[in-house]
Parts: sequence; C-alpha cells; structure tokens
Amino acid sequence: MNNLFEAGDRVLLVDRKDRRYLVTLVPGGEFHSHTGVVDHDELIGSPDGGRLRSSRGGSFVAFRPTLGDFVLKMPRGAQVIYPKDLGPILMLADIRPGVRVLESGVGSGALSMTLLRAGAQVIGYEIREDFAERARRNVDAMLGDEELHRYDVEIRDVYGGIDETDLDRVLLDLPEPWQVVPHAAKALRQGGIILAYTPSIVQAATFREALEEHGFAFPETLEVTHRSWHIEGAAVRPAHRMVGHTGFLSHARLLGP
Ligand code: SAH
Repeated sequence: MNNLFEAGDRVLLVDRKDRRYLVTLVPGGEFHSHTGVVDHDELIGSPDGGRLRSSRGGSFVAFRPTLGDFVLKMPRGAQVIYPKDLGPILMLADIRPGVRVLESGVGSGALSMTLLRAGAQVIGYEIREDFAERARRNVDAMLGDEELHRYDVEIRDVYGGIDETDLDRVLLDLPEPWQVVPHAAKALRQGGIILAYTPSIVQAATFREALEEHGFAFPETLEVTHRSWHIEGAAVRPAHRMVGHTGFLSHARLLGP
C-alpha cells in the first residue's frame, strides 16, 4: 500500500485542537486555515501520518482518512448511516466478497462504500437522481474507479418492485421498509438476508410484522450503543457526550417454501 500522498488523494488534516479537515490534493493548491496556509505541494510526496506547519506556524498532522473519517466528512445529500452502525451491518448481513446486494435508497453512499469495500456487488435503487449522483461521486472519491464497476445505481422507486432475482442480500434505509418485504421475498434467494435500518422503533415493529407474513425466519431487532471513555491520568470515566440514538437494525433470513 502506497504510504506517500499523491495528487488527487484525500487527506485528513488535523489541527492542535483536533479540528479535522478533508482536503483533496491538487498540485499548486492551498488549504487556508485559521492559522495560515498549507501548500498541497508540501503534502504531495510526503508520508501518511506526517507533521507539518502552516505559513503562520500552525501545526497539523496529515492522515489518509479511514472509511469512518470519510463518512463523517464527505459531502452529504441525505443523512448517512454512521460508522457505529455500518460495522455491525457488515456482520449482521454477513457481507463478503462476491455477495450480490440490493441496497435502497443509496442516499449519500455511506452504506454503499462500506459494502463495496467489503467486496460486495451492489445494485442500488434510489428515487432521487441528485442523491444517486452524490452517492456515485462519494464512492468514486473514497474508493476509486476500480470499485465503481461493482456499483450500479438505478433511479427508481423500490416500493414498486425489484427486477433482480437470486439476490444474496437486501439492505434497506428508507421510510417504509415494510413495503419492500413482499418484493424482497421474491428477489432474494432462499437463505438470503434482509436488513432494515430505521430511526424509529415503530418502523421496526411494522417491518417485523411484514417479515412474519412473508416467510422470513430468525428475526432480530437491536440498537448499537457506543460510549467513549475519557482517559487522562486519574480522570478515567465515560465521556460526557455520546451519540444517544441513531437507528434500529432489524434483520431476518428467507426460508424456503
Ligand atoms: N443509507 C444511506 C442513506 C439513505 S437516506 C447512506 O448511508 O448514505 C434514504 C434514501 O432513500 C434517500 O436518498 C431517499 O431519496 C431514498 N428513498 C426514499 N424512498 C425511496 C423509494 N421508495 N425508493 C428508492 N429510494 C427511496
């Protein structure tokens, strides 16, 4: 893996106060901060994890953003699924190289890039053209062209049906996932997995009723809580702030007839 930054790379600049900036390196480019200018040319050819100073003496570290950093900093159309839920989704839906996934809607592409990076082949149904375009651009920015050939976004309403058959997974992040359950029951292969991310527990309960009506087994609904700890000398305690709530994850497997 190349450890040196090249033109076109995304770099995360972190200042003394832990403020984070996502910068795309352009020859001759400049990043303007509160504490002076950082020349992109100084970063191009320098190693991941290096320290540098701006024109007015501000100090920065430059890192290649992780997928989690990128999701939090990338341009958004729709609200994204956060890293704390993206990781567990990979486990619950058992995403691995080669699985064929239908994802709807694609929104800003946070879940898409997570699935693609785990090796999945992703077909996205997204009702809004502008969001689909944003998702493609974000996937390209994070993963590059090589991953885009496994990513196919169609502008369409998934409530109206799914054309694909023999899918391994159907992953849903939209307001009424229960409307997709009858379509998913036909589009998934036997043993396939369906999963929905829903901000509200009422949505999760309605989704669960639909799962039961359409031959899905082993349903489970859960939420992921993530609490950071503050560790500084003798002050060792949970962080004062935490992300209290994002969404519920509900998943199940399709049974044979
Ligand atoms: N999971 C995405 C965010 C999805 S936001 C991410 O991580 O970035 C929800 C998306 O569902 C929106 O983009 C919205 O336009 C889309 N959507 C809503 N209803 C839909 C439908 N019936 N068919 C397809 N997409 C739909």
